[in-house]
Amino acid sequence: MSRTVFILGAGASVKAGAPLMWNFLEVAKELERAGRVADSEAEFRLVFRGQSALQSVHSKFRLDHRNLESVFAAFEMSRIAGKLGNMDPKEVQALPDAMRRLIVRTLEETMLFPAGTTQSVGPPHFYGRFVDLIKDIHPQEPWLRSCVITTNYDLCVDCALHDRSVPIDYCLEGGHPPSGLKLIKLHGSLNWGYCEKCETISPLHPAAFLKDRPVQEKYARENRLIIGSRIGFGAQPCGHQPQKEPFIVPPTWNKTMHQSELRAVWSAAARELQDAEEIVVIGYSLPEADLFFKYLLAIGAVGDALIHKFWVFDPSEEVGPRFRKILGTAAEDRFDHRPITFMEAVGYLKERLARSPEIR
Ligand SMILES: [Zn+2]
Repeated sequence: MSRTVFILGAGASVKAGAPLMWNFLEVAKELERAGRVADSEAEFRLVFRGQSALQSVHSKFRLDHRNLESVFAAFEMSRIAGKLGNMDPKEVQALPDAMRRLIVRTLEETMLFPAGTTQSVGPPHFYGRFVDLIKDIHPQEPWLRSCVITTNYDLCVDCALHDRSVPIDYCLEGGHPPSGLKLIKLHGSLNWGYCEKCETISPLHPAAFLKDRPVQEKYARENRLIIGSRIGFGAQPCGHQPQKEPFIVPPTWNKTMHQSELRAVWSAAARELQDAEEIVVIGYSLPEADLFFKYLLAIGAVGDALIHKFWVFDPSEEVGPRFRKILGTAAEDRFDHRPITFMEAVGYLKERLARSPEIR
């Protein structure tokens, strides 16, 4: 079981170009206007129509129609209800998948990857340093002693682990081999194909998706990783055709949806938190609406004597008190919030580690 559990949120990928929840749809609109997502124009426009419909229907309620997670969750609910304002019921059914396409294409267009240490595309450099840090904390068996839980769909950690020759265990049902660093992606991933017939998720590992992706120039700094929008063209291990869009779900927890597919992933997260000795949260702001994550932290051993240190790195001063509130007084003396970025946090922890053999 892992001693050190890293929890990464959207803030960790900002520097790599990924938009945040609150400006994601705005960025997507700009891409569409600039003609950069012409291949998916119909899906983008459908999402924007759905967004306007939400705005008029929900004007009386407190729904943030600009926030990606609220809108994505509302689309899933509308699909179940079969209705959203005056929209055509067929369009309502298509909204969640259109949203998936918009998320995939927006991330593909905004995130840039440099050349890696191998002949292929590599991770944004601070993600590479992050994996080096993981290896430094537990040099003997880095992937048995640490794990990464992330709310992000993007492929930064995946690429960084591959670049540093660390095998990945996504903790999916029937996933094998279960030896590798546990990379627990709570809301799915751009490289996860989904078979509706078998109700199984099959990841395309970085070794496979980076294999035929040599960088264009020797020192190319800006490569786009087009994986998510091609996932539907691959084959699933079961032999069926996967769904067109990768398996990604809205961050807002809804226990009626996606439960069976993600059960293995979520229980792996709970297990890891339960046994953690150090928890390091970077760029995850614990939004009020994220009941799922609060629940996960609560059922984990937070406040238990096992936890020696609970770090939170996030530039916003508001984030510290939010965590403090759910951790309670038991963990108070072990809690530390530092208002710094992902990149600075990795540097800070490396320095701390250089001074003593443990980051706590
Ligand atoms: Zn199948």
